[in-house]
Amino acid sequence: MEKYVPDIYQKSIFTINYDTLLSRGIKCLLFDLDNTIAPLKEKTPNEKVKTLFQELKEKGFHLILFTNSPKMRARPFKDGLEIDCCSCARKPSPKKFLSVMKIYKYNFSEVAIIGDSMMDDIAGGNEVGITTILVNPLAKREYPIAWLKRKREKKIVKKLRDNDLFTRGRYYE
Ligand SMILES: [Mg+2]
Repeated sequence: MEKYVPDIYQKSIFTINYDTLLSRGIKCLLFDLDNTIAPLKEKTPNEKVKTLFQELKEKGFHLILFTNSPKMRARPFKDGLEIDCCSCARKPSPKKFLSVMKIYKYNFSEVAIIGDSMMDDIAGGNEVGITTILVNPLAKREYPIAWLKRKREKKIVKKLRDNDLFTRGRYYE
């Protein structure tokens, strides 16, 4: 069950304390796309996200869009935010996590994954040993496969809560 527990849990990408991440030696942020930086109905990044990403770049972070969605979905975000991108990432498989770290020459302690899915973003990140940051999903609407995973996630969250390992809405960093 511990593999689903994030290192940090925040309400959204806007409430994460990025300076704390810098002070912990994080240099590269892998951002999930769907329901983390945009709901499914949004096809391009909004101004608020653009502003945040600009600030993060100025702080010195290397930003990579790290999504299970195909290139077609990811492209307008990659271009609009002017960041690197890994689409079809097949999270929670560790494979693409590891290849990104190899390509850009980062070690485990320098990378964090930020996403809304315990089963994909957090389980995958924990398996490879990078810092994992969970945020609440932006919208209820999901792809069918994600919706099925969310149903399973609810059961996991209940178990975690019963064991006092994780509680929805109880944020920490
Ligand atoms: Mg997501």
